[in-house]
Amino acid sequence: MQSQSSKCHKLMVERHNADRRAVLNEVIKRDGVRCFAKTLVPNVACWSGLHGHEILPRSRGGNPLDAQGIIMLCSAHHAWTHDNPQKAKALGLLR
Ligand SMILES: [Zn+2]
Repeated sequence: MQSQSSKCHKLMVERHNADRRAVLNEVIKRDGVRCFAKTLVPNVACWSGLHGHEILPRSRGGNPLDAQGIIMLCSAHHAWTHDNPQKAKALGLLR
C-alpha cells in the first residue's frame, strides 16, 4: 500500500508533467515543430527528436514551466549546446 506522502508526490509529478507538456506545446506553437538551432549551427546535422531546452539552465534558476525561456532543440544540437557553452551563449542558446 502506498503511503500518503508518496501518493502526493506522484500526483505532483503527474501535474508537473502535464504543465510541462502544455508549455512545450506553447513553444512549438510559437516556433513551429523545428530545431531552433538548425540554421544557427549549420555545421551540426539535426538528429532525433526535439527536446525542450531551458536557455537559462534550471541549475541557475531557469524555470522549466516558462515558455519564454524555452526553445526546442534536436538531440544533436542539444548536445552541441551543452558541449559548447561559450558559442551557444553567443548565439543566444544559453544564458
Ligand atoms: Zn538540430
